[in-house]
Amino acid sequence: MQPVLEERAPDYLEIAETVLAHADWKEALDSVIALVRSVFLFDNMALYLRESDSGGLAEVVYARAIGRGRSAEADGAWGSEVANLVVAQAQAIVKTPDATTPRNERMFFPYYLGLPLRAPGEVLGALIFVRYGGPTYTHNQIQRAQFIATQFSSLFERKRLLELVARLKDAQRQVDLQETFIATISHELRTPLGFIKGYSTTLLRSDTEWDEPTRREFLTIIDEEADHLNRLIENMLESARLQSNTLSMNFQALRLDGLLRDAALRNQNRCKTLQVSLETPALMPILADGVRITQVIENLFSNAIKYAPGAPITIRLRETENGQRILFSDAGPGIAPENLGRIFDKFYRVPGQGGSGSGLGLYICQQIVRAHGGELTAESQPGRGVTFCIDLPADPRTVLSGG
Ligand code: ADP
Repeated sequence: MQPVLEERAPDYLEIAETVLAHADWKEALDSVIALVRSVFLFDNMALYLRESDSGGLAEVVYARAIGRGRSAEADGAWGSEVANLVVAQAQAIVKTPDATTPRNERMFFPYYLGLPLRAPGEVLGALIFVRYGGPTYTHNQIQRAQFIATQFSSLFERKRLLELVARLKDAQRQVDLQETFIATISHELRTPLGFIKGYSTTLLRSDTEWDEPTRREFLTIIDEEADHLNRLIENMLESARLQSNTLSMNFQALRLDGLLRDAALRNQNRCKTLQVSLETPALMPILADGVRITQVIENLFSNAIKYAPGAPITIRLRETENGQRILFSDAGPGIAPENLGRIFDKFYRVPGQGGSGSGLGLYICQQIVRAHGGELTAESQPGRGVTFCIDLPADPRTVLSGG
């Protein structure tokens, strides 16, 4: 004879309310599981979802062993085969041990009940219940389980909608940024081009003779503006290469203390009033791309000169557990917390900030550091400056290969 199951009156409303009360689907499942078991007895419960893009096999996303299955380790304990059948056939499936199973061993055999999780017009996945050693599922119990599957379906439908909203918001943000970028970049490209065109047209005028110093002055402006234009175009190309993953790195033994000293000297020669203090002890070389790391440091210098004019700069170099850290600080105006989180976004510029730029510099720097298996972050106390922190591993190959 089958053992008699004692079940209290199912509190459907409480289950529905608990599912609705949680924005996070995992929290909702954790909270509802005890209620579910009070209306429907089971040992194991598993939820499978189909990959919506690939439409491939259903993968388990949530599993709980509560009763006798708690010690069951076998893969079969979660009923993935049944789940995929349920998804393929879009209907409830009951699978019980076959009649040849010796009665005294039934305790070890799972009785599966699989139910489809549905959204309008499609099957999202499957809900699997397992009872070890039975009893099998009655019509009434299957109906209760179907009610639970409906509640879980709404949970996953909501999860999918929330993910869709997040993706759309992200796409909208990208479009906004692209639009700002096009406006900024066309302005940025036109300004140097305007100078070049203006001064060269002036020099070419047939009705005026220019003396040598004036000619030199105009040609110097043309030369500088052409360089500026070149840098802008190079930045745009670089970010396109980063996006298509075609930025190649040339890792070689590199002494960071030497690189930092050279960069400081170069910038002090360029900008005579620049105060730079270095705390850069001689450390072992690390494996890095010297040209790219120089590019990052140069970018931090040019930003400090642009956005923290006249403020002293401090550069510190330290050893870390698996590599070295450069701390690049300026004592300028800093960046407000609400903007700080976005300065590494492509095309982002702090609103209302002067100085020319495309908002690509820090994005490129962060991508370069990441291509070394490292990380570039920033901290700031408004009014007291910004500190950029570059963490580099001693050997990027070990980090990038996941070893
Ligand atoms: P940009 O081409 O605008 O300089 P970046 O990506 O290099 O672009 O920097 C993004 C924004 O971060 C800048 O527009 C600026 O508002 C802010 N920023 C960068 N460095 C500093 C700094 N040292 N102090 C204050 N603000 C900074």
